[in-house]
Amino acid sequence: MPRHFKIIDRRSLILLLSLVLSAGFFATTLFGYFVSKEAIRSAIIGQDLPLTSSNIYSEIQKDLVRPVLISSTMAHDTFLREWVLRGEKDVGELARYLAEVKLRNRAFSSFFVSDKTGNYYTGEGAFKQVSESEPRDAWYYRVRNMQDDYEINVDPDLANNDKLTIFINYRVADFAGQYIGATGIGLTVDSVRRLIQEYQARFQRTIYFADATGRVVLHGGQKGQAPDLRGRPGMAAILDRILAERSGSYQFLDGGDNHILNVNYVSELKWYLFVEQNEDISLAGIRQTLYVNLAISLAVTLVVIFLTYLALGRYQTKIEEMASTDKLTGLLNRHAFSILIDKLMANYRRNPQAITVLLADVDDFKTINDRYGHRIGDEVLVSIAHRLRSTLRAADFAVRWGGEEFLMVLPGCAAEEGRQIAEKLRLAVAESNPCPSTPSILTSVSIGVAQFDGTESIDHTVSRADAALYAAKAAGRNRVCMAGADSAPSDNAA
Ligand code: GH3
Ligand code: MG
Ligand code: MG
Repeated sequence: MPRHFKIIDRRSLILLLSLVLSAGFFATTLFGYFVSKEAIRSAIIGQDLPLTSSNIYSEIQKDLVRPVLISSTMAHDTFLREWVLRGEKDVGELARYLAEVKLRNRAFSSFFVSDKTGNYYTGEGAFKQVSESEPRDAWYYRVRNMQDDYEINVDPDLANNDKLTIFINYRVADFAGQYIGATGIGLTVDSVRRLIQEYQARFQRTIYFADATGRVVLHGGQKGQAPDLRGRPGMAAILDRILAERSGSYQFLDGGDNHILNVNYVSELKWYLFVEQNEDISLAGIRQTLYVNLAISLAVTLVVIFLTYLALGRYQTKIEEMASTDKLTGLLNRHAFSILIDKLMANYRRNPQAITVLLADVDDFKTINDRYGHRIGDEVLVSIAHRLRSTLRAADFAVRWGGEEFLMVLPGCAAEEGRQIAEKLRLAVAESNPCPSTPSILTSVSIGVAQFDGTESIDHTVSRADAALYAAKAAGRNRVCMAGADSAPSDNAA
């Protein structure tokens, strides 16, 4: 079976299959990755960060509402106001009152500043005198002149770094409505800080408050580690815009990672609440999935390619054989002949050499069929075919041309050599016992020989051989006849 009958080009098929499979897997995997990435990003921007922000915001408000109420109660307390109007005599009495308020509300501090004497009272007594020239007392003069009942002031110098304190400064008036001083309490914002830390730990979010200048005033980190926003590469460029816009969603690059930022302005504190998330860290999970998927796709592709390669290798020979061979005799069929002859002709054009064709027909084959049956007839055909094939050289090819007709092509053979080979074939068949089970069967072939003349079509050469075969039959069978140059057969009877 010649190897040039490739009806499947295994290499291109494998290549095509690999391309289609990997392109398909790659496309679906990447598509999935980008869809998930987009979903995660829009969840961060649309839900996660705003939710965190509003939770922290409401916690802040809760922390503020209670001290405002307490301070309001103090400002309207009859005892406090009467004590002032009586001339601030028994300091111990007020100190006990302030200490009691502080203790009962677990406040960080409680205070009263008298407008008349300028005394600053705490739970320990008269603490100091406020003075207009002292910057730390500026808050008092602000409260004294303000229209509102109270203000919320977050200790600006962070006196006690661990316990950032929110002061409620409430105006106190006498029973006629005249301003007589300021009172209130200070509370730590530890619960807010704890919440910030919890959110940071749970969602890898960074949460902090910044003031109007962009300075970080409250954050979840340890003390002394306030992030410097103006010093951060991507943030510095957009910080002023953020402060001006007061709230919104932003993205910036820091250390090669994309950060998503949600900002809300807390008007009560005049602070900005920043909630940010490192998108690349959030995507680490699906990136891991992406790599796993790609690895699985690659493995599946390789396995499929390998199995296909094995299967193709196994069936290719079979398929090619089926497509190019005659089922009964195992010789080439006419389809194979036309492929081979095209190649031979192409070769001839590059490198002309003699080509001779032999057309053989079994003599009186009908009789064998009639006498012994079709099955025995088949056996005889197979036997003759094998004999012909085994007598020829490897470069020659033998084709089952019709029912009991065989065409043989002998490249590199001129007419005379072809005739000798035909004679050898004829003898081989005549001397053989084509059906071992029925030794009485003897058979012979008649052969027509024609040499390709270099200009005609190969079909014409075959029809000249056919004419020579006809002549051999006419001359009595079991003989070889040469085709004349012009179809006139020249007898070469045995
Ligand atoms: P001759 O060629 O010598 O003139 O006589 P012949 O008896 O061989 O004549 P013909 O070519 O007319 O007969 C060929 C017969 O071969 C007819 C057909 O039934 C038979 N035949 C064709 N193909 C097959 C086949 O595959 N198997 C069998 N058993 N018989 C076949
Ligand atoms: Mg015939
Ligand atoms: Mg015949």
